[in-house]
Parts: sequence; C-alpha cells; structure tokens
Amino acid sequence: MEFALSTDLELLKKSVREFAQLELAPRVEEMEKTDRTPMDLVRKMGGLGFLGVAVPRDLGGAGMGNLARMLLVEELARVSAAIAMSVQCAHFGIASVCDGGSPAVRDKYLPPLISGEMICAVGITESAGGSDPTGNTTEAVENGDHFLLSGRKCFISNSHVSEIAMIVAKTKDTPQKEFTAFLVDRQFGGFKPGRLEKKIGFHGCTTGELILESCRVPREYMLGREGQGLQLALKGITEFGRTGIAAMSLGLIQASLDAAVKFANERVLYGKPIGALQSIQFKIAEIHADLEASRLLAYRAAWLIDRGRRADAEVAAAKFYCSEAALRCTRKAMEIMGAYGCIKEFPVERYCRDAQLLVPADGTNDIMRIIAGRAAISAGKTGRK
Ligand SMILES: Cc1cc2nc3c(=O)[nH]c(=O)nc-3n(C[C@H](O)[C@H](O)[C@H](O)COP(=O)(O)OP(=O)(O)OC[C@H]3O[C@@H](n4cnc5c(N)ncnc54)[C@H](O)[C@@H]3O)c2cc1C
Repeated sequence: MEFALSTDLELLKKSVREFAQLELAPRVEEMEKTDRTPMDLVRKMGGLGFLGVAVPRDLGGAGMGNLARMLLVEELARVSAAIAMSVQCAHFGIASVCDGGSPAVRDKYLPPLISGEMICAVGITESAGGSDPTGNTTEAVENGDHFLLSGRKCFISNSHVSEIAMIVAKTKDTPQKEFTAFLVDRQFGGFKPGRLEKKIGFHGCTTGELILESCRVPREYMLGREGQGLQLALKGITEFGRTGIAAMSLGLIQASLDAAVKFANERVLYGKPIGALQSIQFKIAEIHADLEASRLLAYRAAWLIDRGRRADAEVAAAKFYCSEAALRCTRKAMEIMGAYGCIKEFPVERYCRDAQLLVPADGTNDIMRIIAGRAAISAGKTGRK
C-alpha cells in the first residue's frame, strides 16, 4: 500500500495552492458580496491547465486522471468552495463531451472548454425529477436532422456563465421512458438561463435555471447513443460530480482545521493559548481524524476510477462521509473560535454555510446511503469484498 503522492501530483497540488493563495484568496470577499463568478480567473485556470487536468492527452488534456482532479478541487476549495464547485462542474461538462461527443463536437468545443474561454454546465435536475430523474419532463422531439428540446432545468451550477450545457431530455414518452443527452449551445437560440437562485453559500458560483424553448439541436450534438442519456449522466455524476463534492469537502475540512489551529495558538485565556485546554485539543483531534478518514475514502475512490474500475458504492460512501465530515468539522471550528467563529471577518462561518450545500448536490446523502448500503448487502450475500 502506497500513501505518498507521485512527484507530478505533488507538483500539481503545489501549483494549485499557489494560484489559490495568490490569485483566488484576494477575490473571495468580492465573490461573497456580488455572487458573481470571476470569469477572468476561470480563464487563467484554463491557461494553467486546471480545466483539462483529467482530459485524456489524445483529446488535448493533461491526462492526469481523477485523483489529480480531486487534489486540484480540494486545493481550490480550501480557499473558495464556490470556485471549486464551478470548476468541478466544468470538469463534469468536459468529461461528457469527451465521453459522448462526436469527433466534430469534440473538435469544436474541447479546445475552448479546456482553455477556459467557454464553460459547460450540466443540466439533469428538474423540479419534477430531483432524486428520481425518470420523472423529468424536458423532451426532445425528433424533427428531421434536428431535435427540438423544450423544458426547464433547475439548480444548475454555472447556469448563468455557461455558453453550452449537457442536457438530458426524454426522447420516448412510452411507459419505458427513454432519455438522451445532448450538448446544447446558446447559439442555437431557444436556450437561455432563467431564475438565478440566492443560496446560503457557494457565493461566486451561479446556480439557477436553464430554459429550453423549442431549441433546435442538430443530431450530431447528441452525446452518446439515443436512449443512453441517463447512463451517461450517471457515469459523469459518479466519476466527476460526486468525487468532486468529496474533494470539496476535504478542502473545507482542511481550511477549518487551519483556521482552528491558528486561533487555538493565538487566543490567550487563563494566561495560556486555548490550545492548552483539553476540550480544544479534543475538537482539533476530531477534525484531524475526520480529515484523514475522509481523504482515505475519497482518494481510494478516485484511485479505483483511475484504474478503470466501477466504483459507484465507494464514490457514494466517500460523498456522504466526506460531506457530513465537512458539516461536523466546519461547525467544530466555529465552536473552537467562540463568538469570533460567528463573525464574518473570520472565514469559518462561510465554510459552515458552504458545507451545507454539499449534502444535496450531485445526489442527496440519503441516495448515497442507498447506493452504498445496497452494494454492501449484495457483497455480503455473494461473499464478495
Ligand atoms: C449547490 C447545488 C448545485 C447543484 N448543481 C447541479 C447541476 O449542476 N446540475 C444538475 O443537474 N443538478 C444540480 N443540483 C441538483 C441536485 O443534483 C439535486 O438537488 C439532487 O439531485 C436532489 O434533488 P432535489 O433537490 O430535488 O431533492 P429531492 O429529490 O426532492 O429530495 C428531497 C428529500 O427526499 C429524500 N429522498 C428522495 N428520494 C429518496 C429515496 N429514494 N429514499 C430516501 N430518501 C429520499 C432526499 O434525500 C431529500 O432529503 C445542484 C444542487 C445543489 C444544492
């Protein structure tokens, strides 16, 4: 068993950390106030190779795999969970173009998506669907060499800053409904952002509706095969969305630990730093243990994906464990800081608000427990480990 990261991964982590501290940290306050995505930073990250980190080399990326992507998202989230969310959703969008795009679609869109000139959203959720995407009503009606897409997607990350989106729509309304994925471009007309949500956290990552009104999508913009839309979406959510949320959780836990330790060393009570109090040491020990346990679950899930293995249950376990550890740890960091923890001048209240959004995003933690629980029960029945 090898716990050390390779030199390439260490170098990547270091360069993302430097970028986050030098370029991103000074912009966080502005993002908190305006809730706008700093697109100039997205383009800079594209220029540094952050958006194409997991894109295979033959498609113009760095081909570093999912563990590399998780380390990158974790380092960004340590400074801004909002930017980490924007970037990890962009990775998911890029992956769906890589996985399902025709050669023409890949040639047209991958270069600007990797360079950060363009950002791609992923539109699966609808108010009629949520955890049950088979309830979704957005439809794609075949019309010669086009499909006409109509419907309304909700809670979509990057909704108001993306030029294109992967959209899953119903292509057959029979009892055995059929869903197909498409890449939809604003240039087609009939495709626009709708309501912009006001969230408790992730300020600086837009979340909102995407509206399709008889949007004419050429057949060659279908991603994957007809009827395979939910499978393509589920693969992307598992390998990119949920691992991304786990990585963001790690960044938030690490940031909370950093803030709590700094505070424990600086705040003096009874003539000593509060770090000398056992109750503070206990909380810091718990945050540290949660961070280490979360990292093992998350990195192992990425490691499996990088070896071409199905890791649905491992990813689900990592998603719910890490995001709930982030909830616990951000709150503990706030408690360590007493009243200071509740003051906006200190970042831990932001970490706490951001952590809450990790629970429903990319599939709620109830759904993650169902996936992980069923797999464990089935492994117990068959004797597989
Ligand atoms: C910050 C954020 C960003 C997001 N970004 C995107 C995006 O980019 N693209 C996208 O398509 N979607 C996105 N989503 C939507 C997200 O995927 C959905 O919120 C999620 O799938 C859950 O759907 P829902 O919110 O409608 O909850 P519902 O499905 O309505 O669930 C309500 C409650 O019922 C529980 N529940 C549902 N089914 C079961 C069950 N079978 N057993 C037990 N309990 C159950 C849930 O756990 C939850 O507690 C985002 C959400 C958030 C919060």
